[in-house]
Amino acid sequence: MGVRPPSVDALARSRADSHLPHPLLVEAARSAIADGAHEQFDAYVERVERRLLSRVINATGVLLHTNMGRAPLATNRNAGYTNLELDLDTGARGSRQERAGLLLAKACGAEAAIVVNNCASAVMLGLAAVAKGSGVPVSRGELVEIGGGFRVPEVLEQSGCRLVEVGTTNRTRLADFERAIAENQDIAAVLKVHPSNYRIEGFQQSVGVKALSTLGVPLIVDLGSGLLDEACPWLEGGRPGWLLDEPAVRQTLDQGADLVMFSGDKLLGGPQSGIIAGRAEMVERCARHPLMRTFRPGDLVIGALQDVALAYLRRDGDAIPFWAMATIPQPVLSRRAEAIVAASGIGMVVDSEATPGGGSLPTATIASAAIEIAGDHSTELRDHTTPIIARVHEGRTLLDLRTIDPADDAIITSALAASRLEGLA
Ligand SMILES: *Cc1c(COP(=O)(O)O)cnc(C)c1O
Repeated sequence: MGVRPPSVDALARSRADSHLPHPLLVEAARSAIADGAHEQFDAYVERVERRLLSRVINATGVLLHTNMGRAPLATNRNAGYTNLELDLDTGARGSRQERAGLLLAKACGAEAAIVVNNCASAVMLGLAAVAKGSGVPVSRGELVEIGGGFRVPEVLEQSGCRLVEVGTTNRTRLADFERAIAENQDIAAVLKVHPSNYRIEGFQQSVGVKALSTLGVPLIVDLGSGLLDEACPWLEGGRPGWLLDEPAVRQTLDQGADLVMFSGDKLLGGPQSGIIAGRAEMVERCARHPLMRTFRPGDLVIGALQDVALAYLRRDGDAIPFWAMATIPQPVLSRRAEAIVAASGIGMVVDSEATPGGGSLPTATIASAAIEIAGDHSTELRDHTTPIIARVHEGRTLLDLRTIDPADDAIITSALAASRLEGLA
């Protein structure tokens, strides 16, 4: 009773073994003392550590989970000096776009491609470069919000274009576009948007790329998900059934799109980035636009994307973690789940349905296997040293093997066997 709490400095120094810098320890010590909880200082330190960006195990079965950085990456690049903008032949300044951009153009059969920070900036840059100050017709059925604040009418407005709404929410015809172009003198491009995580079923009609490309104005397509080629030549088994009717970059360009934009970290399986691919002259206009300076990625991103582009050109889907995880046969996942259940003595193996996620393919599922545990254990699992993010469904915790790296099975096993889950066997 009446024992004075330690000084902020002494409390902070008591955890000098933590890898947190002293100012962060001081801040944590101050909070602990203010809360009268200096004896629980370790928990305060841990809370600060857990706010830092760190590795987690995705056991949700959602392959592209925006909360967990979308596509997982296999990269061990050296972050030292690079030839980012150096031409090694001449010693003069080169272009950062001649790395991943050039390779991705080859991989999808485009005349040219450039890389920006995400698909949102790709769309904004493409519209600004091609149609700023002019009218851009868009089908009312494609004036969507993708999530995370990407709303087509707002992006279009921010790019300096004038939205010309065409057709209705459920049905838009080519004649609607023809009329919009005839009635507005300032049309500089037509925009088609992949509705991504939104689907209209029933009495609906939309205009395909081929038809839109006959209108005599540049056609810009925001494809979002970035499937490079309908045939998936990088997969031994070819196009998987769960891709349903997902459109691809190569075929969208073949059908007459002038510019196609897509994310680097959705079905492409790369780092967060956005790609603008298409006609050389129009891609060049994007590259020269002042916004490009705002949207250009650095060498960490370009390097990781270059690795992904090289894997596509080698047709080596197994080198792209997203495609490797998405195509593991279900029995392999069941066997891994059985082994974890046997070794930990916790849970039972059930069939499960993984999903591509990433705001693409809202109805697609991939057959998977999961470890099911009665009750909601998501908090304990998240509290594990390497946080494990599980799915909870109808009072049961599910650990889906499709999104778990086999190298992490041992961590799952020891987490399940740990004392806090005892009594569930
Ligand atoms: C996901 C998506 C975007 C946004 O992509 P980011 O890379 O997250 O900026 C834009 N358009 C479409 C159609 C999308 O699916």
